Amino acid sequence: KPTYTGRTIPPPAKYGGRHTVALIPGDGIGPELLNHVRELFRFCCVPVDFEVVHVNSASTREDDINNAIMAIRRNGVALKGNIETNHTMPPNHKSRNNLLRTSLDLYANMMHCQSLPGVHTRHKNIDIIIIRENTEGEYSSLEHESVSGVVESLKIITRNNSLRIADYAFRLARDKGRRRVTAVHKANIMLVILPVVICTIKSQLYHSRECHWSRTVFSLSSHNRKLGDGLFLQCCKEVASGYPDIEFDSMIVDNTTMQLVSKPHQFDVMLMPNLYGNVVSNVCAGLVGGPGLVPGANYGRDYAVFETATRNTGKSIANRNIANPTAMLLASCLMLDHLKLHDYANMIRGAILTTMNETRLHTVDIGGQGTTSEVVQSIMRIIQSSGPLTTEI
Ligand code: ATP
Repeated sequence: KPTYTGRTIPPPAKYGGRHTVALIPGDGIGPELLNHVRELFRFCCVPVDFEVVHVNSASTREDDINNAIMAIRRNGVALKGNIETNHTMPPNHKSRNNLLRTSLDLYANMMHCQSLPGVHTRHKNIDIIIIRENTEGEYSSLEHESVSGVVESLKIITRNNSLRIADYAFRLARDKGRRRVTAVHKANIMLVILPVVICTIKSQLYHSRECHWSRTVFSLSSHNRKLGDGLFLQCCKEVASGYPDIEFDSMIVDNTTMQLVSKPHQFDVMLMPNLYGNVVSNVCAGLVGGPGLVPGANYGRDYAVFETATRNTGKSIANRNIANPTAMLLASCLMLDHLKLHDYANMIRGAILTTMNETRLHTVDIGGQGTTSEVVQSIMRIIQSSGPLTTEI
């Protein structure tokens, strides 16, 4: 089946059928994994050139990240490692990864979580697609300390963005022949109880028995049932009504995580706001063997950025030749699919899966003693033994 790439239009190839892609090495294991991607692409004569842009995570200046964003605008597509978020920075310092996604309006994060051959896990034959809203929710970077010791953090849910991510999920479900979309939420809390909590805290804070603002919010939520996750869920339901061929259901996020680890096969396509997406993607990556195995993609209307699904930096294993390269290599295959270089994508993906079947090559994270470069060399050997590609371009 062709890999779904949403409505993002891939940029056309340039002269000679070659593409240019922005490459952001990031921190930790990012640079070494992306060097392996480049080595592999050269080996396979993939018609892709990289424009490398480094982002310094220790800098408070925004020149680097702005250059990276400009490079993605120029090329339309990027492959990236995770950029470390420096927590010693002032509170107004935003995560570079988040800044990149919001500046480019990469609203849909897609992770296809599948069991891999040769990887021993408790549950077999997992096949779940996770669609995560990628630009708002708890990642709005809007927080402040109202008085010492009390922090307020805004979670933003908008009707427009909820409708478009829901539509994305249903379209993808239809295009990929999936049966069901499950919306994940916490509408029981984000709808009504949170304003009551805020009211209680505020009343205590200001030694006042009334909290008019919070009461207003509370009454609005009770009547319209449209706040927070309630709005998200409502939008999912509205969109679902336009896709009668796809079943729709919803599940509260705490139950979802429990169901995922006990009965994961009940899930098909999962749709959720930003923070739950982060949690659920990590649970799902764990189900199929860990963060070193699963690729991820971020799509907007105009741009697409590919990275590992759980966006790890892996600082403690960096430069030791022990990181599992699978997730990043599979991300590069998603990128090749996006560029419509399907033959190259299939060739590399096939060699990755054959290598995964060789238990002796497994890296430490999946219980083996293989090194990163041994895995990549095996992939190259398999590709070489199957002969050159002649059909592409
Ligand atoms: P670390 O714990 O490595 O200093 P970190 O705190 O940023 O880095 P994450 O990057 O979130 O942690 O990674 C979580 C865990 O997953 C870490 O133990 C990391 O080593 C492991 N991990 C992430 N990516 C890979 C990979 N490609 N191969 C093997 N292990 C990985």
